[in-house]
Amino acid sequence: MASYDVIVIGAGPGGYVCAIRCAQLGLKTACVESRDTLGGTCLNVGCIPSKAMLHASHQYHDAHTHFDEMGLVGAKPSVDMPKLLAYKQSTVDSNTKGIEFLFKKNKVDWLQGHGTIEARGKVKVGDEVHEAKHIVIATGSEPAALQGVEVDEERVVTSTGALELKSVPDKMVVIGAGVIGLELGSVYARLGAQVTVFEFLDHVTPGMDGEVQKTFQRMLKKQGLEFVMGAAVQSVEKLKSKLKVTYQSRKAETETTVDADVVLVATGRKPYTEGLGLENAGVSLTDRGQVKVDAHLSTGVEGIWAIGDVVTGPMLAHKAEDEGMAVAERIAGQAGHVNYGVIPSVIYTFPEVAAVGQTEEQLKDEGRAYKVGKFPFMGNARAKSFFAGDGFVKILADKQTDRVLGAHIIGPYAGDLIHEICVGMEFGAAAEDIARTCHAHPTFSEAVREAALACGDGAIHA
Ligand code: FAD
Repeated sequence: MASYDVIVIGAGPGGYVCAIRCAQLGLKTACVESRDTLGGTCLNVGCIPSKAMLHASHQYHDAHTHFDEMGLVGAKPSVDMPKLLAYKQSTVDSNTKGIEFLFKKNKVDWLQGHGTIEARGKVKVGDEVHEAKHIVIATGSEPAALQGVEVDEERVVTSTGALELKSVPDKMVVIGAGVIGLELGSVYARLGAQVTVFEFLDHVTPGMDGEVQKTFQRMLKKQGLEFVMGAAVQSVEKLKSKLKVTYQSRKAETETTVDADVVLVATGRKPYTEGLGLENAGVSLTDRGQVKVDAHLSTGVEGIWAIGDVVTGPMLAHKAEDEGMAVAERIAGQAGHVNYGVIPSVIYTFPEVAAVGQTEEQLKDEGRAYKVGKFPFMGNARAKSFFAGDGFVKILADKQTDRVLGAHIIGPYAGDLIHEICVGMEFGAAAEDIARTCHAHPTFSEAVREAALACGDGAIHA
């Protein structure tokens, strides 16, 4: 038995960041993780492997489309799936090993095994019970099941199985037009699969700006993805060589069946608290199965905190990381804080989609007077040379004060461009502040400046 200041349960981006920050702040810290590797969903079966697959498939797609146009001619590549998966895995391994190194460097003990809270201040791992003044629950999430669809992770897969397919399917059905479904659907469409996305709602990526949703869906269609909107998938039947997917159209109320080789169920994720022993310490759950926390991420039970996907809020790695740092600082007696109004979200397709702050729909609902500054990437020299002139930057600013309220970007490197806006919003910037900042030429970032200029006297290149 060992005694710690802090035991963090779960070593995903929430948990490992929290543990490292606790140690840096002088707290004796351990992190419990049941996987064989650190990094949680994000590093092992989420953000990192999916981005490696997106990168590889983007290169492949470019080689088959734009290379000729740039005068890069010659034999076109084909897909060697085992090699592609090995590249993906090596990317994962180097990152998970990196966290192991950081744990050693910062003297965080990794308690390998399943952690159960036995009581306030006591965590059992294997046969040993460890003591801690503070426990941080960072146990993350798992894929949500869909009624009528039995996942086998080979032919009917969640994102985890989709990152391990042994070959590119001829026909893939994706259930759910959210971020994960569209990213992984894009991967296989680029690699040659015929991908059909079924979505219950009438639009893709719920919660995003409406104009971005429409443009994004149009672009994906141009790339070959097919969409069946307003469709509720009823069942997936496994025949010997094919899968039969039956769905009901919400409008026509008709039932239709289509064939597929692989079905990806991407209908969301749910908090993971199995075998955690929350009841032993009196920690409560919300009716959605999330660990209940207050605005400071305290569970209300003294010395027990919770962060990341297992609590309310967007299921994003960087949100989990920020919460991890904030809780570490609070435990150390500092004033840790997360600004939930400035959490960017990114979809890593090509082009990328990125957003921060409020959407036009939200501002309209609030009845807030706002102005829109919009700039198309077609007016950006760098984007055109990248065959990425589609898409735009849209900045929303308060009509009277010019303060930036949100930004929505669909275009090349949107996921990086958005951070200029995030920093601006953290500092309470006006659109004019961004517009008056010199931006290097020729960069994609100039499109952000032009959109800011469009909030005032007008963009130059539009
Ligand atoms: P997790 O990363 O889920 O980690 C929790 C860890 O706790 C797990 O390793 C689990 O094994 C461990 N654990 C659970 N219970 C116990 C226990 N009792 N004892 C010991 N260990 C336990 N987010 C982004 O921001 N950007 C992206 O690009 C992105 N891409 C994604 C792509 C996919 C395919 C998926 C599935 C997710 C993606 N996400 C992305 C979401 C991101 O992965 C999660 O938001 C993030 O991992 C949440 O971090 P966490 O620390 O809360 O939990």
